[in-house]
Amino acid sequence: MSADAGSVAPPPATAKPAAGHIRLTSHSGGIGALAIHWAAPTAAERGPVIGTTTKRAHRNVIGTHSGSYSVYRALAVAAGALSRDHKADLTNTAPTDAIGPYPQWSDPDKIVSLDPWGAVVADVFADELAAGHDMRPTIAVTKADVILPEVMEAVQKGRLRPDGRFLLPSGAALVTKAAVEPVWYLPGVAKRFHCSETDLRRVLFEETGGMYPELVTRPDLEVFLPPIGGQTVYIFGDARDLADPSVELTARVHDECNGSDVFGSDICTCRPYLTHAIEECIHGAQRGGVGLVSYSRKEGRALGEVTKFLVYNARKRQVGGDTADQYFARTECVAGVQDMRFQELMPDVLHWLGIQKIHRLVSMSNMKYDAITGSGIEVGERVNIPDELIPDDARVEIDAKTAAGYFTPGPIPDADELRMAKGRGLDG
Ligand SMILES: [Zn+2]
Repeated sequence: MSADAGSVAPPPATAKPAAGHIRLTSHSGGIGALAIHWAAPTAAERGPVIGTTTKRAHRNVIGTHSGSYSVYRALAVAAGALSRDHKADLTNTAPTDAIGPYPQWSDPDKIVSLDPWGAVVADVFADELAAGHDMRPTIAVTKADVILPEVMEAVQKGRLRPDGRFLLPSGAALVTKAAVEPVWYLPGVAKRFHCSETDLRRVLFEETGGMYPELVTRPDLEVFLPPIGGQTVYIFGDARDLADPSVELTARVHDECNGSDVFGSDICTCRPYLTHAIEECIHGAQRGGVGLVSYSRKEGRALGEVTKFLVYNARKRQVGGDTADQYFARTECVAGVQDMRFQELMPDVLHWLGIQKIHRLVSMSNMKYDAITGSGIEVGERVNIPDELIPDDARVEIDAKTAAGYFTPGPIPDADELRMAKGRGLDG
């Protein structure tokens, strides 16, 4: 690179990046790895999930920790900024709230995509840690004050009343929140998707360009830490109440939409529905219940934001304008499918929290409803997004979804209605 190319100097090399022979993962390291017995009744019988790269012989999973951020970790090692031998110091990192264990944790059909013991590894696997096994929590539980303009507005308009316990006069809501990384038990994931474990392993290997050879060479390793985003749950009220079906639970399961959730784009209802759910959760907690928002990192129906923006253009440039009757078709033209969120794995986090009943589900999605009830969780009332919260440009989305089977207490739009161009053009 020429000197005037404006390049940024790499960080000083404090650790030696990869040197010497390549450390292949595709053959058994053999001695020293602890066994995982998925869904065993106790942590000791289940065994720890060890995805460390520092002691290869101790690894008992495919992949590494931190989901998609494992790639940044590799970059940090390559740049010499991170020692590959760094071991996490877990002092004072324990969860702020006790969650579980619950009966669902040892039911092999209830949880296949996260480690229910993932928040308490430093506690339940203290002996293994002391013996030199390098293990990382895959779940972290903490507390926060969340301050949202929509909640402050609800206070100003008198819809919400600060109580000093769940909602402060400043408009801050007090929450317990948990971040959850994906931990896939491959036989269980295959069962959820009605395919064979062999096919699942082969397709995961081939469709990631051969990223994890162990998927096809190490059938003895049944747990995979996939390089994808996980979930964050926000709990309004006492986390222990989530598992008590006699306590009213208001819950929303929300899939990431950066454009609306963070930047306020008005082409969809994501942020208004999310903040409405938070308002409902606060109301629920104040009534003596508990509230939950589970936020899954599945941007743009898990198709990614590039695909999503391509679809927006295709919708708005098509002959006849942006209409509800072509809403799903335009996605399918670009992506090959209408949706890749596959709600089959979504209820796992609800089972980790011990949930048996959701009294008020703040979602109109039939796919989410079917996945939750299909996993054995009872759902009472379904709460739609109030009409006045739907942005004008998002009318296309909501009409298309209600016509396709989403829950609505109102009328379902007919064919003529669906053919009307309701979305704005690209030039405003
Ligand atoms: Zn959205």
